[in-house]
Amino acid sequence: MLVIMKNDATEEQVQAVIREIENMGYRGIPMPGAQRTAVCIIGNQGPVDDSRLVVMEGVKETVRVTKPYKLVSRETHPQPTVISVSDIKIGGGKTVVMAGPCAVESEEQALTIAHLVKKYGAQVFRGGAFKPRTSPYSFQGLGEEGLKILDRVRRETGLLIVTEATDHINIELVEQYADIIQIGARNMQNYSLLRRAGHATKPILLKRSFAATIEELLMSAEYITSEGNNQVILCERGIRTFSDNTRNTLDLSAIPSIKEVSHLPIIVDPSHAAGRREYVIPLSKGAIAVGADGLLVEVHHDPSHALSDGMQSLYPKQFEKLMREIESLRR
Ligand code: PEP
Ligand code: MN
Repeated sequence: MLVIMKNDATEEQVQAVIREIENMGYRGIPMPGAQRTAVCIIGNQGPVDDSRLVVMEGVKETVRVTKPYKLVSRETHPQPTVISVSDIKIGGGKTVVMAGPCAVESEEQALTIAHLVKKYGAQVFRGGAFKPRTSPYSFQGLGEEGLKILDRVRRETGLLIVTEATDHINIELVEQYADIIQIGARNMQNYSLLRRAGHATKPILLKRSFAATIEELLMSAEYITSEGNNQVILCERGIRTFSDNTRNTLDLSAIPSIKEVSHLPIIVDPSHAAGRREYVIPLSKGAIAVGADGLLVEVHHDPSHALSDGMQSLYPKQFEKLMREIESLRR
């Protein structure tokens, strides 16, 4: 349920409503809007009896929230969320481009790729230091050494950094180095990680699991926001279907579907969807055309020697072409 405050409601009246909600055994989260503040009630199992709330000073009305997710729902927050990271805005009309290798492999590799993607117009550098790999024998990432390299990339290029935390322990370290903390598809329902991400001071890039419905993705985002971090960027990266011509099937319909029901920004990762670099440019164009707030693209200067995901990594020249070809769509 949402308690809508009057336009001229005072801060004291909002706080009194929150206290009353707590007395009822729930939690009240204030959601300031352009015109008025609303207080979202969370923690209730069934319908809430609003009789004590509607009579309070400053309260205009109460509205039932029909979706199981509350804080990430458009019902509670009609305006799109815009997340500011340094001087970059994510959501609300602009398209951000995040690019870089799947994994940080060495300082030379990361800096080489970073300078190139920066030159062609990327705003955020991606690269995993902690890698969730299907096989325990595959390269697992450089760990903290990789994070230190990413720090160097930021200082040398001015690019912001997105990198993955794979559990509720290494997120402590990742939070110190990253501008945006990625939670990967395999961890979309790692609830201890999601709860910890809810206490992070950095935005979270939450990737859709390859077997998750949109409602499940939004419930995972709700885990983060319900702990206090409302800076969540969603990412569609392909789901598993019977179709085997690509690594995953990019669900472009997820973009307008999510925009209809949630105010959170959503970007698209065409690389993990495609699995092959040949398809990355067309899928990127499709993503922007259907309204994605940005792209997360893998780029490698020497993909045949990449330690992970070389087949789907664009050559830098292809990334340049991508940036050129999406320019008018972005506008
Ligand atoms: C990645 O971004 O490198 C990655 C591991 O992606 P996903 O979690 O979508 O598989
Ligand atoms: Mn990858």
